[in-house]
Amino acid sequence: MKGVVIIKLSKRQGEILEIVKENGPITGKDIAEKLSLTRAALRPDLAILTMSGNLEARPRVGYFFNAGYQAKQEAKKFIHQKVSDYKAHPIVVEKSTSVYDAVVQLFLEDVGTLYAVDPKGHLAGVVSRKDLLRASLGNQNLHELPVSVIMTRMPNIITITPEETLLEAAKKMIYNHIDSLPVVKEDEEQKSTYLLVGRITKTTITRAYLEIMENKTS
Ligand code: ADP
Repeated sequence: MKGVVIIKLSKRQGEILEIVKENGPITGKDIAEKLSLTRAALRPDLAILTMSGNLEARPRVGYFFNAGYQAKQEAKKFIHQKVSDYKAHPIVVEKSTSVYDAVVQLFLEDVGTLYAVDPKGHLAGVVSRKDLLRASLGNQNLHELPVSVIMTRMPNIITITPEETLLEAAKKMIYNHIDSLPVVKEDEEQKSTYLLVGRITKTTITRAYLEIMENKTS
C-alpha cells in the first residue's frame, strides 16, 4: 500500500464536503453559517480537507470540491485489491476430455473458458470459446478429439497468483488480449508446475469495480 493514503473523514468533515459539493465555490464563513458553527471552530477541519486534497481553496473565491481527487482515491482502493479476495472457482476438465464434452461443460457451467489439467491436477492448458469453435468448424469427430490437441498449452499460459492485485490481473488480460487468467500456486513438490486455485475474468474486474463504487464511503 506504499504511497496510498486513504483518509477516514469525521462526520463533520463529511458534512463540509457535502456542503461544498452542492454550493461551491463557497467561503469558510458561509460553510460555518450553514453548520451553525464559528469560522474558528471550522478551521482545523477545513485545513485537513484542503491538505488531504479533498477541497481546493482559492483566495477571495472560496472552497471548491476536488472531484478528481475523490475519483483517484476510489481508483486506488480498487487497484490494490488482492486477486485472492475476488477469484472465482476454476472450471476444470481433464486434458483427455473430448471437445464435445468440453462444449457441454462450457454451457453447463456458464463460463467462457475451461482449464485443462493433467492426471496429477497440474495446469496443462486453457480452452476458450474460440478454441472450441475453431475445432468445431473442422470436419473432425468432436467425441474423439481431446482438448489437449486444441488448447493453449503450458508454458504459453498467462497466469496470476493470489497475492497479485486486480490491477495486475487487468493489465495481463488487456495486454495479452485474453478474457481470463488461471489463479495458480506453484506445486512445492514439482518446480514449474502449477496447481489451480481459482480464475479471474474480465467480469471479476467489472464486479469488483462496481462493488467498490457502490460502497464509496466504507
Ligand atoms: P475467446 O476464445 O472467447 O476469445 P480468449 O480471448 O480468452 O477467449 O482466448 C483467446 C485465445 O487465447 C484462445 O486461443 C485461448 O486458448 C487463449 N488464452 C485464453 N486465456 C489464456 C491465458 N490465460 N493464457 C494464455 N492463453 C490464453
